[in-house]
Amino acid sequence: MASTDVDRIKEKLNIVDFIRGYITLLPAGKNFKALCPFHPEKTPSFIVSPDRQRFHCFGCAADGDIVTFLMRYENLEFPEALRVLAEKAGVPLQTLSPREQREFGVLYEIHEKAKEFYRDALQTHGAARAYIEKRGLKPETVEAFELGFAPGGDALTVHLINSGFDVNDIARAGLTHKNTAGLYRDHFFNRIIFPIMNSVGKTVAFTGRLLEGAAGEGSDLPAKASSPAIALATEGAAAGAPKYLNSPETPIFNKSKILYGFHMTKNDIAHARSALFVEGQMDLLMAWQAGVKNVVAVSGTALTPFHLEKLRRLADTMILSFDNDEAGIHALERSLDLLNNFDFYVKVADLGGFKDPAEAAEKDPGFLAGAVASAKAAFSHLFAHYFPRDEAGTRELTETKRIVRSILQKIKRLKSATEQTAWLKGLAKYSGISEVMLMKELNELPMVPRDVEAGEKFEPKKPADRADALAERLMGLAFTKGDFLATIREKQSWLPARYQAVLGEPEGETGAALQMQASYLLAQFPPDCIAKEFSDLLRQLEISVLKREQRELKTAIQKAEEVGDEKLLTRAAERFHSLSKRIDELKL
Ligand SMILES: [Zn+2]
Repeated sequence: MASTDVDRIKEKLNIVDFIRGYITLLPAGKNFKALCPFHPEKTPSFIVSPDRQRFHCFGCAADGDIVTFLMRYENLEFPEALRVLAEKAGVPLQTLSPREQREFGVLYEIHEKAKEFYRDALQTHGAARAYIEKRGLKPETVEAFELGFAPGGDALTVHLINSGFDVNDIARAGLTHKNTAGLYRDHFFNRIIFPIMNSVGKTVAFTGRLLEGAAGEGSDLPAKASSPAIALATEGAAAGAPKYLNSPETPIFNKSKILYGFHMTKNDIAHARSALFVEGQMDLLMAWQAGVKNVVAVSGTALTPFHLEKLRRLADTMILSFDNDEAGIHALERSLDLLNNFDFYVKVADLGGFKDPAEAAEKDPGFLAGAVASAKAAFSHLFAHYFPRDEAGTRELTETKRIVRSILQKIKRLKSATEQTAWLKGLAKYSGISEVMLMKELNELPMVPRDVEAGEKFEPKKPADRADALAERLMGLAFTKGDFLATIREKQSWLPARYQAVLGEPEGETGAALQMQASYLLAQFPPDCIAKEFSDLLRQLEISVLKREQRELKTAIQKAEEVGDEKLLTRAAERFHSLSKRIDELKL
């Protein structure tokens, strides 16, 4: 059973030693603390407990054991994480349950086998090799990234069946499908194949680039060209056949989580602390070949928070390259917001007259490395685009205002105050609007929630109101001392329901997490300091609870006035005044 495997792995691997292999852990009492690898932060709220063999983050609520850590950190599915850990622990895996074996294991094996098949097919296909050569890809690049060729028809399907795989599993892997005549046909037909690997180098999907020339004839693509598996159909593609085709999503392939080429480039990215982001496989391979090794691409999707979470752990700077036209600027602006949410320093590489990094790398191999090295800050790029020297003063005032506002909104999102100040200065210089005015406007702009695009998973738990926020902080302190816990129990009606539940069951998940936080606090702060904080917070909580009651009373008083209920009015007013008195006392 899988659970026994996990137990045996946990006996051999200590979570502290294991996590230390990924991030820097600092001692904090009997626990360890670190900057959380799952959300951007400047002060550590990520705690690892050797006693409990678990981690917990008080910033983003990430929580789990050694297996969940690896799954999340490397974006692996459970059986794959288990394999990696078993290998590390030197524990032979007993068995995954038959369901898990079927669900995942077989899919990895099929992809491995298919990759070998495609690789061999490339060796014997002259036109495919000629195309690769024409695009400027060198043999060592083709070998390093294990490119292949899909002849199509049912060649792969038959090969895999002959290798002992069940056709239903091959279909589940997205590599074959039944056509209208009821015959199995390969998913990829007449395409150059780019294997997509997960972070530990296992093949989990493919992208197929249509081989021009023989395109279309006998293509066995499913009739519906709007299939979500079809990444993009652009010029050069035969009718119905998109230029690039991805594997469909499967239990082992989620395109919003996987970065193409990452298993090959992650060390270079970590070393440079920066990454060049490109749009597709060809761009990545050509850049890599031209010596820009810290490069990364997505596969048929836009950048997602999952991608960025992964990259942020290795890099501080993201270098983008976009066309210098309106569409390119809009794409840059969209990416900029997302990247700023993850506190990246964003730069833009100027490709000059080249249409994409692949073309630049092909036509002038030295050019791309130079463009990356001299990449300009994204804001400078925006300023230069929106406020060109020769057009100063010719723009409508309302238009200038709109542009300034939109740039200010981006500046407001920046996490670093130093960066904010620097770009405000830059904007003043370019727009001719004084810094004071810009600062005033910046302060008046509504704060855009940091995690709007980041999705629910990245949303730190946001307390509903002030009382809720205070309760949350108080609960963390309460577990540092028996007296505090007793006091909190007396006042439990002030707490939100979820904390009342914790007091009823202090040994539960949340309670255990709070105890971990408490031991962390005790290691960090002297007891009298914690005691003062506790009483301050308790006082503030009482004030905000009383104020909440006052707000309710106000509504009641209004109602009483409307219906002329004198008795209720007097009672409510009296209560309101006694609450005001108590609040004043507490404020002293
Ligand atoms: Zn976190």
